[in-house]
Amino acid sequence: MTLGEFDLIARYFSRPCRRRDVLLGVGDDAALLEVPAGQALVAATDTLVEGRHFLPGAPARSVGHQALAVNLSDLAAMGAEPAWALLSLSLPEASETWLQEFADGLYSLAGMHGVDLVGGDTVRGPLVVTIEVLGFVEVGSALKRSGARPGDLVFVSGWPGESAAGLELLSSGAATFASDDPLVRRHLFATPRLELGRALRGRASAAMDVSDGLLGDLRKLCAASGGGAGIDLDALPVSSRLASRFPRARCESFVLDGGDDYELLFTIAPDEAPQLVSALGASVELARIGEIRGGRGVQCLRAGVEVVVDGGGFDHFA
Ligand code: ADP
Ligand code: MG
Repeated sequence: MTLGEFDLIARYFSRPCRRRDVLLGVGDDAALLEVPAGQALVAATDTLVEGRHFLPGAPARSVGHQALAVNLSDLAAMGAEPAWALLSLSLPEASETWLQEFADGLYSLAGMHGVDLVGGDTVRGPLVVTIEVLGFVEVGSALKRSGARPGDLVFVSGWPGESAAGLELLSSGAATFASDDPLVRRHLFATPRLELGRALRGRASAAMDVSDGLLGDLRKLCAASGGGAGIDLDALPVSSRLASRFPRARCESFVLDGGDDYELLFTIAPDEAPQLVSALGASVELARIGEIRGGRGVQCLRAGVEVVVDGGGFDHFA
């Protein structure tokens, strides 16, 4: 390493903090942060490993963006306000162009959501990026996976499946990292749904973000809530970008089983749904895909008839 560890931190990860609740940021042994009275501290962490969570050689800007986006998505799913991030970076070498782009990707998303990078750790090793995001939510108003009740409607935001389709285009060689294909951009630069998470506070009965596939994640939500769900395959949000490039069955499998969407999956009582939809206006697409029932597991239906589909969701140890 021509660039030493401390120069690296000083050069790339010490941009000034903007928040007043950061009493001490990067540079000491730990950060000092002030949690507002009456708020619960919300903490989430996610690790991205090269070759497992992102393709080898992926643009550094995308890696920096995604590492933060996946964590912000977890806070969105809780209805929380993100505030601070810590970055643990393991790098095979200190390439200055890589670091500059990585930092730009990370800081630009952080800036959009008012998040300050307040600390971290830097080591040499395989390329692994771990971010921890901290934020807050008023005590008692966090969204959880466990509140869905029979009769609640099941919604998902945006266009799940596009990220998985983008990954397929990249891994099959049909597109390159530089492509401006919207499916590829969706895969490289996810949009965490913080605004939707805020709007769901006090309205949704349960929520989670879709990281491992819609079907598998809905099963988790149902298990946490102690119920089951039925979803209508014809109501799945298949974007025209997907539909124009892949056969219907393939589109459905992208939507049901594709990972890395970072959309929000939530349930809401039927009489609350219209208010939510009008409060959100055109800011985000919402698809009503089914409803919560008694029993267990998720049934997929087409014209009311049960259909067996693959799609268990991603499991690192399966
Ligand atoms: P320590 O040895 O006390 O853990 P370090 O030398 O690892 O401290 O880090 C020095 C300072 O730089 C600390 O404030 C730490 O939080 C911060 N830091 C280290 N690596 C990063 C990074 N990748 N991003 C942001 N801050 C970092
Ligand atoms: Mg350290």
